[in-house]
Amino acid sequence: MTTYKLLLLPGDGIGPEVMTEVEKIVGWLNRSGLASFETERDHVGGSALDAHGKPLSDETLARADAADAILLGAVGGPKWTGVAYDLRPEAGLLRLRKDLGLFANLRPALCYPALADASALKRDLVEGLDIMIVRELTGGVYFGEPKEITTLPDGSKRAVDTQVYTTAEIERIAHVAFDLARKRSGRVASAEKNNVMKTGVLWKEVVTRVHAEHYSDVALEHVLADNCAMQLVRRPKQFDVLVTDNLFGDVLSDVAAMLTGSLGMLPSASLGAADARGTRKALYEPVHGSAPDIAGKGYANPIAMIGSLAMCLRYSFGLGEAADLLESAITRALAGGARTRDIAAEGENGIDTAQMGDAILHELESVRGA
Ligand code: NAD
Repeated sequence: MTTYKLLLLPGDGIGPEVMTEVEKIVGWLNRSGLASFETERDHVGGSALDAHGKPLSDETLARADAADAILLGAVGGPKWTGVAYDLRPEAGLLRLRKDLGLFANLRPALCYPALADASALKRDLVEGLDIMIVRELTGGVYFGEPKEITTLPDGSKRAVDTQVYTTAEIERIAHVAFDLARKRSGRVASAEKNNVMKTGVLWKEVVTRVHAEHYSDVALEHVLADNCAMQLVRRPKQFDVLVTDNLFGDVLSDVAAMLTGSLGMLPSASLGAADARGTRKALYEPVHGSAPDIAGKGYANPIAMIGSLAMCLRYSFGLGEAADLLESAITRALAGGARTRDIAAEGENGIDTAQMGDAILHELESVRGA
């Protein structure tokens, strides 16, 4: 069996707390014979700034580049408010994504039956919800040039951000979405605003062509991004894979996230281009941040972090059986009543981070043994 190298970057705040629970699961995977992993821990974000004077050192970046996959906790926190812009903890994460070319951000919005009542929407709208948002992560308006604030002759200011997409950038994210749809229900919705944006016109044109040339077995629909936001809260289960650009993806994936209850439940994957062997650089992380308000208290929900490991098993290593086992262990732990504070019923304290990790581990052991 191949032994894979996992780089663990716990980061700041609750990052190390939830990463400890992932290490327990990795230990179980190794013991059970389902997989073989070597793990290494390193710093990113504020903890890297404290340790190395930079939010991501060159050595850590090299280690990330050499790893088979990276698991990251979260970065940031009030301790580092006011540090120079380039030294912000978030700059470490952005450098990691950019330097490893992680252009495809996969954010599942999954509603566990046991938690359907925690959603802001009615149970029947969200129960069984399983959407995969595929967001382009390294292009678009967050990176386009010019990006500046200039002072006009009358002393007022003018700010510019530039939305730019090339054919190649749209093609590669479209391939990721269509390939994923083939492994799911075979449906892709592509969201843009071709009615008012040139990037939207090109986006629609390229996605349509990639579909016609390579994926006639997948159903494709185009939806305007504003309508998509509305549909996500009106009838979210109509979507399966939803592909969109960086800006719309940022907003639409947060809308989808809130359909599922708590931020502590949501994993994500950021993938790079496939090499000749079909292997992609990949970073897996929870959607939530470092939650400084609860850091160190043992309240953090580790499910988003553990779910990120399940995505890693599936997308980096093709370990679908292990990923299914882990995801169903999470479902069963929840069905059995395991609740951290963020998903507990009102007035109840819930269990702590380690107890939730143990509840999931217990479910795994009950299926496959220790
Ligand atoms: P946050 O996601 O850290 O927290 C928002 C709220 O959700 C808080 O009340 C928090 O207690 C709760 N929460 C988050 N994760 C939870 C979990 N696993 N279990 C239980 N409750 C959880 O967002 P924020 O407060 O806006 O940001 C805090 C810091 O995190 C900031 O420095 C921000 O820049 C950073 N941040 C980092 C990332 C990242 O590393 N990818 C993402 C978002 C925010």
